[in-house]
Amino acid sequence: MPRLVSKSLNQMPSSKLKLWDFLKNKSNDLVNLPLEFTKADPQSVVQIFTFGTVYPVFSKLTPEQQKSTPLYAWFKEFSQIPAVSKAIKDATSHIKIERVKEKNTGESHVAKGVSLKELDPSVKLAPKAGERNILITSALPYVNNVPHLGNIVGSVLSADIYSRYCKQRGYNTLFVCGTDEYGTATETKALEEKVTPRQLCDKYNKIHKEVYDWFQIGFDHFGRTTTQKQTEIAQDIFMKLHKNGYLEEQVMKQLYCPVHNGYLADRYVEGECPKCHYEDARGDQCDKCGGLLDPFELINPRCKLDNATPEPRDSKHVFISLDKLEPKLRAWVEKASTEDVSQEI
Ligand SMILES: [Zn+2]
Ligand SMILES: [Zn+2]
Repeated sequence: MPRLVSKSLNQMPSSKLKLWDFLKNKSNDLVNLPLEFTKADPQSVVQIFTFGTVYPVFSKLTPEQQKSTPLYAWFKEFSQIPAVSKAIKDATSHIKIERVKEKNTGESHVAKGVSLKELDPSVKLAPKAGERNILITSALPYVNNVPHLGNIVGSVLSADIYSRYCKQRGYNTLFVCGTDEYGTATETKALEEKVTPRQLCDKYNKIHKEVYDWFQIGFDHFGRTTTQKQTEIAQDIFMKLHKNGYLEEQVMKQLYCPVHNGYLADRYVEGECPKCHYEDARGDQCDKCGGLLDPFELINPRCKLDNATPEPRDSKHVFISLDKLEPKLRAWVEKASTEDVSQEI
């Protein structure tokens, strides 16, 4: 009978075919190894592991094939030990030895009786009574930069896939996005490029649109936050929140540049990193040590545009009191998760 040690177990090939070759042809090589397989021993760790390893192959062999392997007598004896045969019975009664390979035709996952509706691009998309109406938006990209792959993967691609799915299912779907053009960062970038904020936004809105078109992101509408309609909608939402007491003012300290007369977005403040003392850390992050920063932590802060020393100033900010809105919002989310509320929007 062959002998086996754990060294040989490590060398066992993994695929079944190779294991079969190994059992049939190579196990004679083991004869001279010190651990004996002459007697089945349920206390032997090596035998337990060996049995577990060869069982899936052995159990599928014909009796002739089994007999042709040098391990046959040992395998038979080991499997007839009462505790082992009970364990085999228990394990195989509820665990398949090997997963049945599925036929990946996709057929079983396709709902029957669904017809695809051709979309007519000349028809204006609007909610329809009695239909499932789906509005999809993705995070509005800031317009003061050129979008990179991460912007597309991180925000618009998933929405685009969902939108295409909904349209294929024939749902009345509107997928909108656009450039976010307001904010201190836009103003500062315009100063940096020596153009007006409007010129800056026009330039980068065009670049954004071209990039998304190139990637064939299928927006139904790609707009801008500076259009008249958008302004009306945003001001309407703001005024309603204000009238109903959902807004509150809070004073915050922000860094202000006395030379170009403007508040500074975090990354327009530069200075020495308080953690690694890199001299060109930004107010939001240090590119050398990767640490996240608060612009007030920077040592010797300076304005990125003109190197002036910024000063902390109080500035008033308006916040939405989400805590006051929570009960209404929670009730609506709970309703929306079980009922179709698309007609209520
Ligand atoms: Zn400045
Ligand atoms: Zn640092």
